[in-house]
Amino acid sequence: LGPGNYTGLVEGCCCDYETTDSVNELVLHPLLQELVKTPFFRYFKVKLWCDCPFWPDDGMCHLRDCSVCECPESEFPEPFKKLSRGRLVDEAICQEGKQHAAVDKTLDDKVFKGWIEIDNPWTYDDETDNSAMTFVNLQLNPERYTGYTGTSTQRIWTSVYKDNCPKYPDEELCDEKTVMYKLISGLHSSISVHIASDYLLDVSTNLWGPNVELLYDRVWKHPDRVKNLYFIFLFVMRAVTKAADYLEQAEYNTGNPIEDLKTQSLVRQLVYNPKIHSSYPLPFNEAKLWQGTNGPELKEQVLKQFRNISAIMNCVACEKCRLWGKLQVNGLATALKVLFSVNGNNPNQHLQLQRNEVIALFNLLNRLSESLKFVHDMRASMEKMERQG
Ligand code: FAD
Repeated sequence: LGPGNYTGLVEGCCCDYETTDSVNELVLHPLLQELVKTPFFRYFKVKLWCDCPFWPDDGMCHLRDCSVCECPESEFPEPFKKLSRGRLVDEAICQEGKQHAAVDKTLDDKVFKGWIEIDNPWTYDDETDNSAMTFVNLQLNPERYTGYTGTSTQRIWTSVYKDNCPKYPDEELCDEKTVMYKLISGLHSSISVHIASDYLLDVSTNLWGPNVELLYDRVWKHPDRVKNLYFIFLFVMRAVTKAADYLEQAEYNTGNPIEDLKTQSLVRQLVYNPKIHSSYPLPFNEAKLWQGTNGPELKEQVLKQFRNISAIMNCVACEKCRLWGKLQVNGLATALKVLFSVNGNNPNQHLQLQRNEVIALFNLLNRLSESLKFVHDMRASMEKMERQG
């Protein structure tokens, strides 16, 4: 398999590249794009302060696009608004110069009525600690080029791979560790794809657009990175289909009945879609993992490593990158929790997810779906660059 030649089954999965692309483009991508705009899915609860447990000297990057936008109260769904009235911070000036922005510095757990508050063992942050949480409107803070680079990024990626997710030599590979490496590498590819798809092409005119050379250099010319992107997409898809009953029955209440009905209907169309089910009957088979005699030990070790990766996200020195880093690691932790913490014939019976985990899971899937689509759309340009060497 060389660059530009993605055919056959995605390694470690039960679907081929062509089907994955076509179902993504025709069914998943349009549904997910609508879903993430709904009031339920566009607000994410996140601890954004920098409390890096590893390198306290890490500074913030200076490009204004690194910062998360703050917004007027009118942006918030009704239940959030009522609870926070009188306690909202002064309307902040959006750092990207847009009028609509989106950070509520307060949070009341009554907003999460109908949803449990429980810590996810795969993440470092205590998900139930609401004191330092912020609400961010994800729609106003797109994941794209921010100018974040240099020592801080190198330190983070090196630490993620070297200490927590090493690429083992082939003879030492066990499935569980390979899976963890492929997931992180796939996520890294997706971040690079988003940087390439929405890049600041000209600072003086503030011109944004796709940067195909960057896509080629950072992702396309490394076949493993493309393969790992497909792998993480199918892995997260599997988690969503495994939790289908739970997700379909969950309460998507934001105080706006029309919007909430639409959200429920979109979730139903995603988790029970016959086209998706027939094309991806089992995108990834998690049942074969942790089966050996050292299964429980290995699971404990991998869980620890993943929690460490989650902790490292606190060291991302660019606020907007930290937001998306945390959201996507949280989404991946939710997928891991669905696939590996719940066993039995009817996993939905024992599953307990927080509202924020469901938001992270679907937003992650949407990011991955966008990445797949962009790589696929750019294929002709990538092949041309390949031919030109
Ligand atoms: P990097 O992407 O930093 O890669 C470092 C090294 O990792 C490479 O030299 C290569 O050896 C290896 N590598 C690269 N890709 C893969 C892969 N897919 N699989 C395996 N190994 C790989 N920047 C933005 O502009 N916008 C963002 O939203 C953003 N979000 C970020 C989120 C996080 C959590 C982190 C840690 C960084 C983020 N960055 C973001 C920075 C961005 O990821 C790069 O680090 C930065 O653009 C510098 O890129 P680079 O070319 O030095 O290579």
